[in-house]
Amino acid sequence: MKIAIIGAGWAGLAAAIRLREHGRAPTVFESAAIPGGRARSVDDVNMGLIDNGQHLMVGAYTATLDLMNALRPETDEAALLNRLGLHLESADESFRMKAPNWPSPLHSLAALLGARGLTFHDRIGALRMMISLRLSGWRAPSLSTVEQLLKSHRQSERICRLLWIPLCLATLNTSPEQSCAQLFLNVLRDTLDAPGHHSDLLIPNTDLTALWSGVAADQLDMRYRHIVRNIAIDEDHVMVDSEPFDACIVAIPPYAVKRVLHVTSNRDALTELLHMLDQFDYRAIATLTLQLSRTWHLPHPLLLLKEDHARGHYGQWVFERAHAKGPTQLAVVISDAQDFLKHDRDQFVRSIAEQIGEQIGRRMPSRYGPMPEIMHHRLIVEKRATFAAVPGLSRPRTKTAWPRMYLAGDWTDTGYPAVLEGAVRSGLQAADELLATL
Ligand SMILES: Cc1cc2nc3c(=O)[nH]c(=O)nc-3n(C[C@H](O)[C@H](O)[C@H](O)COP(=O)(O)OP(=O)(O)OC[C@H]3O[C@@H](n4cnc5c(N)ncnc54)[C@H](O)[C@@H]3O)c2cc1C
Repeated sequence: MKIAIIGAGWAGLAAAIRLREHGRAPTVFESAAIPGGRARSVDDVNMGLIDNGQHLMVGAYTATLDLMNALRPETDEAALLNRLGLHLESADESFRMKAPNWPSPLHSLAALLGARGLTFHDRIGALRMMISLRLSGWRAPSLSTVEQLLKSHRQSERICRLLWIPLCLATLNTSPEQSCAQLFLNVLRDTLDAPGHHSDLLIPNTDLTALWSGVAADQLDMRYRHIVRNIAIDEDHVMVDSEPFDACIVAIPPYAVKRVLHVTSNRDALTELLHMLDQFDYRAIATLTLQLSRTWHLPHPLLLLKEDHARGHYGQWVFERAHAKGPTQLAVVISDAQDFLKHDRDQFVRSIAEQIGEQIGRRMPSRYGPMPEIMHHRLIVEKRATFAAVPGLSRPRTKTAWPRMYLAGDWTDTGYPAVLEGAVRSGLQAADELLATL
């Protein structure tokens, strides 16, 4: 039986590996020259291997972690991921929230109650909201936005600014006034109201492709640099650019599915699917990787930054890329970003450097000193980094009306916003469904 997988992002590769585990040998078509899709390494002339975007995972990414461990049984998790407990802190130290080593969900409630930078009123308000959401089974009113949810639970301006809005942007990449409250709650439920280690923060300790997608691809029949242009389905086959297969898993983003799908059977289902694909809108993420002239450790591997757009202080998070060889590398992340590539690049980089230096300098100048000079930088703006996680979006299931075709990707009906774990779970599910029909 010949099976095609279109797209070698985390969804397509997860599907391919699951099929391989069951004795199948799928062919993976990928338009790029390397695997990983939106979570991949980029070879920079000056800095070596960097990532297309800094990725943060959490302990709740169980399917991804299982896959990674199965593919790299000989490698200790610590070599791949820097696992930190639930600990969020701003660069200038004005906000800090750290969970004690207590059973869940007490650890997250204690983190809120002990948070620095919040008033007694903020903390009690947050605690009340968390308890009330837990009692309601983490259900948000239908079609409500994160902003409406926070308002209905009377969250103060301060806690929204310091905690909820950064979390919303980091997880949904969509502004709180537009983003879907239910997707936000699904993330909170699975990280905070789950076994304690599910709220751990996991920062890749290698470049993204080395994490697992490169290892997976080495075990598969890969067709790189092949842009699939036509998928047609008849009773007996799926034709991928005129090559016959018995079945396929289409693991490319919605706008790409729309372009390649040329089916003639089951017109009603096709109209419905195309309508769903049309509803997706996209949001950008910008990542600025900085190579400093010498070692300069951040106080914590990831820090929240205070924004001030009037001064060009656009950075939202700064990460220390611990695995980078040589002097310190930092990655600054801007979610729901504009197209910063249009800006004066040098001024943009200078302003971000000023933002980091100034905010960390507010801690203990004698300990951290001024931020070292920037030797090299690379700004990558992924314009369609994620789909806009708005309320009321109907997302297709992996199983389609065509028995030979399955869908996979972070945009399918995973219950999550566009995240790595959603992509992996969708790929595994599509593969399991396909295997079940064989
Ligand atoms: C900058 C950035 C930061 C992010 N940060 C985080 C984070 O911190 N945590 C998190 O969980 N998630 C994060 N995400 C989201 C995460 O990267 C995605 O959810 C995930 O990578 C999606 O995987 P996928 O397999 O569904 O899709 P994709 O990665 O888009 O894979 C689709 C693949 O199909 C290929 N393709 C497309 N069209 C064709 C065609 N016609 N023929 C052949 N191949 C084709 C593409 O080249 C691509 O490789 C981030 C994303 C970006 C861009």
